[in-house]
Amino acid sequence: MNPRSRRGARGTPVRLPAKEDPGKKRARAVSVLRRLRKEFPSAHTALRHENAFQLLVATILSAQCTDERVNIVTGELFRKHPSARDVASVPRVELEQEIRPTGFYRMKAKNLIACSRMLIERFGGIVPGTMEELVSLPGVGRKTANVVLGQAFGITSGVVVDTHVHRLARRLGFTEEDTPEKIEADLMKLFPEKDWIELGTVLILHGRKTCNARKPDCPACPVNDRCPSSAV
Ligand code: SF4
Repeated sequence: MNPRSRRGARGTPVRLPAKEDPGKKRARAVSVLRRLRKEFPSAHTALRHENAFQLLVATILSAQCTDERVNIVTGELFRKHPSARDVASVPRVELEQEIRPTGFYRMKAKNLIACSRMLIERFGGIVPGTMEELVSLPGVGRKTANVVLGQAFGITSGVVVDTHVHRLARRLGFTEEDTPEKIEADLMKLFPEKDWIELGTVLILHGRKTCNARKPDCPACPVNDRCPSSAV
C-alpha cells in the first residue's frame, strides 16, 4: 500500500490507502470484522437497561459521557422514574440534578422530558421500532436510534457512529469522511447489512480497549496487519 497522510479527527494522524481496489478494500473490511468478532465474541452495549425506553434514556445521557458514569446515574434514575410517564412528569430542575454527573444536564433533561412526553402523546408511551419514528423524538439522532433499534429490538437500520467508530473508521481507511452521517453511509456500503449492528459494537469496544484516541496500542492490535494507520 502506498499510504497518504493527513490529520484526522482530534488531530490524529491518519494514513489512507492510496486508491485501494474496492474488492480488496471489502475483503480487508470483512477480515477486520472477523478478527474483531473473535476479540469480542459477545459484543453488546455496556449501557445497563431493562427495556427499550431505558436504553433510549441511557443513550441520550451517554452523549459526551462515559458508559460507566451513565450506568451509575441511571441505577438511581430508573429506580425513581422507570417509565416514560414517570420521566414526563418529573420537574425539570429535579431531573437536571439527578443526571448532572453526565454533563450537558440542562439540555439532556429538557430533551428527556420532551422525548417522554412525545412518546406518550404519539406512541402510547412505547418506544417505536422504526428509524423514522425514533428520529422524530426530541434529542434522538441516527446514532441513538441505531443503538435502540439494534440493541433493544435487534432491528438493523444502520451503523452506530459514535466518537470511537468515527475515529476507527478513518484510521482503518474505511472512510475519508468527517461527519457521522457520511461515515455511516460509507460503512453501510462497505459492509453487508447483516453485520451493521455488530460492526458498531465491536468498533466501539476496540476503540476503548486498544485503538484509543490519544495512544493506540498498535503492537497489541489484532488487525494491525490490516490497518493503514498501524504504527507497527
Ligand atoms: S493498528 Fe489497530 S490500534 Fe493501531 S491505528 Fe490501526 S486499528 Fe488502531
